[in-house]
Amino acid sequence: MLSDIEEQLEQLRERDVYRKLRMISGPQGPRVLLNGKPVLLLCSNNYLGLADHPRVREAAAEAAMRWGVGAGASRLVSGNMTIHRRLEERLGEFKRREACVLFGSGYLANTGTIAALAGEGDVVFSDELNHASLIDGCRLSAARTFVYQHADLDQLEWGLREAAGRGSLIVTDGVFSMDGDIAPLPEIVELAQRYDARVLVDEAHATGAIGPGGRGAVADAGLEDEVDVVVGTLGKALGSYGAYVCCDRPIAKYLVNSARTLIYSTALPPPAVAGALAALELISEQPQRVEKLQRNARVLADSLTESGLRLPASAETQILPVVIGDAADAMAACERLLSEGIFAQAIRPPTVPEATARLRVSVMASHTKSELRSAGRAIARATLPAIGAHAARAEPSSAPEHVGGVFDGMAEAA
Ligand SMILES: *Cc1c(COP(=O)(O)O)cnc(C)c1O
Repeated sequence: MLSDIEEQLEQLRERDVYRKLRMISGPQGPRVLLNGKPVLLLCSNNYLGLADHPRVREAAAEAAMRWGVGAGASRLVSGNMTIHRRLEERLGEFKRREACVLFGSGYLANTGTIAALAGEGDVVFSDELNHASLIDGCRLSAARTFVYQHADLDQLEWGLREAAGRGSLIVTDGVFSMDGDIAPLPEIVELAQRYDARVLVDEAHATGAIGPGGRGAVADAGLEDEVDVVVGTLGKALGSYGAYVCCDRPIAKYLVNSARTLIYSTALPPPAVAGALAALELISEQPQRVEKLQRNARVLADSLTESGLRLPASAETQILPVVIGDAADAMAACERLLSEGIFAQAIRPPTVPEATARLRVSVMASHTKSELRSAGRAIARATLPAIGAHAARAEPSSAPEHVGGVFDGMAEAA
């Protein structure tokens, strides 16, 4: 068995997709020490700079003194504490939904919620670029999954028509995590209504980043009463750890009774909950943080394009994909940038489709304009040669084979 594992690792290395952990010292600020070397951090999801905000730290520290560090049990046993209830109420208000249920993480929220809402005989419709936790939720549920091409509403409609009469759930990222584009939510909701399907939107990269007051993509589209289930993480803009599902009261009660990742997992630690509460308060008090994030994203996007890079027109959020193509080239560009003091992690398959390895660059509200301008120039210098070479080599792209398959399990690409 052991030799087997060595072989598998060797194969990963040969395909240039071998991963290893990098070590950061100190908090997730705009600049960090990476392996002891100072770098500008351009791949953290601490979008609003709240993970290391003094008020968030103090709230977490106080909660540890008041309630202890661990919740001690599942929320269905003895782990449900007053502070959990308070955060659920505040998140429900923030998202303008009547109910909210906390989960251990976004991964647990997505897998548990999809598996609870879609069962045998049902069909889940999933965008091909959805986050791995949504994909795994589809795999975990007993439902069939129909993967539609990215944001392809015609294909989605075709599938919904084919599935007529079966229980249907459409799941989509609100802001796509590796491309930074926004799902066509009004059209998805309209299709859902026409074909009697439920909609689940994952707001991991939208909450705190877009929409009025940072309330997310669903709020931005004015669809708070139309989307059945909104999932979000506390681990990104909210600077903490954990996740939530906002929905109506019956679905909330149903999740408490049937979402196995909620029932069979320990409740969130009080310091994480208190940290998220303080972060939510800061976002309401200081909406300019969200505006600063959006302005910073524009500053970096402009610098990248002025330096000769072409960004997809749809990349309109704090996530900017610099698609290089080849996995080894993407890693080499990442290392070159690190030597210039810029940390933008290369993202390779299977996190992104084959031949679309990239630097996934994301800004924070806490970066300065001049940092972002010079980073944009450096990123262009480090990536343009590889992008040109790849474009010259690349075959004309065709639709991935797995997409549009009729209800037959999921694509392998996660
Ligand atoms: C990060 C992420 C998750 C997982 O959230 P965690 O709280 O980190 O487990 C889910 N969905 C999307 C789109 C994400 O980007």
